[in-house]
Amino acid sequence: MLSDWISARMASSSWIRAMFEEGEKRRKLYGADRVFDFSLGNPDTEPPAGVISALKDLINSHEPNLHKYMNNAGYPDVRGKIAAHIHQETDIAITEKHIIMTCGAAGGLNVILKTILNPDDEVILFSPYFPEYLSYIENYGGKTVVSPCSRDTFEPLPEDLEKRITHSTKAILLNSPNNPTGVVYSEKTLREVAEVIHRKEKEYNINILVISDEPYTQLVYDGVTVPSVFNTFKNSVIVTSFSKSLALPGERIGYIAIHPDAEDSDLLVDGMILSNRILGFVNAPSLFQKVIAECLEEKINTELYRERRDFLYNHLIDLGFTCIKPKGAFYLFPKAPIEDDIKFVNRALKYNILLVPGTGFGCPGHIRISYSVDMSVIRRSIPAFRALAKEFY
Ligand code: PLP
Repeated sequence: MLSDWISARMASSSWIRAMFEEGEKRRKLYGADRVFDFSLGNPDTEPPAGVISALKDLINSHEPNLHKYMNNAGYPDVRGKIAAHIHQETDIAITEKHIIMTCGAAGGLNVILKTILNPDDEVILFSPYFPEYLSYIENYGGKTVVSPCSRDTFEPLPEDLEKRITHSTKAILLNSPNNPTGVVYSEKTLREVAEVIHRKEKEYNINILVISDEPYTQLVYDGVTVPSVFNTFKNSVIVTSFSKSLALPGERIGYIAIHPDAEDSDLLVDGMILSNRILGFVNAPSLFQKVIAECLEEKINTELYRERRDFLYNHLIDLGFTCIKPKGAFYLFPKAPIEDDIKFVNRALKYNILLVPGTGFGCPGHIRISYSVDMSVIRRSIPAFRALAKEFY
């Protein structure tokens, strides 16, 4: 009954899911307080109070037509508010017509790729990358091309990118702050990437769309600001969500913003609206479109995440691990003490520590630790990390 493609995918199910399921098993076996599960990027905080009260107000308002079909792009007033918000931040003349409400960033990425890819078109990813991208690209017959980031900074290497662009390159997919490294790509790097793209576009007489996947832009620390992709790349689209920034991953609410000066921007908009419909999303959840429109200035408490990052990072460094101190998202991506990251992750299970091997992100030799877990779990995990580290350092 199953397609060959799905059968193959099921056999090689994601590392993140596999570790999460291992955690469930171990929680039943050993008790929840004796398992240290750093595997999932699921925000563990509740949405800000302002989000909950906007939701209550909306339900009590008896606003008509709140649960009906609408334009496949979403409510015009909601899209207008988002456009105004982006305009305020970037000064770019973006309007409601350039915004499409989506079922999270994942839905948005699928809409974009469905709209632009012909079979065998190439999409360049910088590794390490969010592993779902591979399936999303394959969904539409695209080919993934990987450009490894610098192992010292985890920033893209423009000279490597230059070698990967061919006449078949359709898009470059960026993700900063990055999952799994937490690194925020610098403005200098992005400008260099833009220069490479311009050069190659001229050489091959092609247009390359920069797709910026930005669900973590609000989760940054140490006063860092995330450089604006719209101000660096004209031929670009931003896809984001409120899954992490407002701790609403289950509500499946996000949007695509199309740069008004992108090549064929009007066609891109119309194509993406059609894709949103025919992929079966139809439109983003109506209630939560209205909620987030009232909450564009709301923020979760990023101080909580910063404290966890500092605590865990400092302990790991003390124990002998090598790790870049990331400025965003809620992940650490230390080097595994042995080359075989899968072997190391399996060894960590001996201490009930659940990690994800870098191999799953296209970057063997590292491990991902998600610190979107309660501080009490992080504190309790330190003796387990100490015992694990002792085996290697
Ligand atoms: N992109 C990245 C880099 C992610 O880490 C995630 C989720 O973890 C997504 C996209 C999907 O997010 P959403 O819940 O908005 O679909």
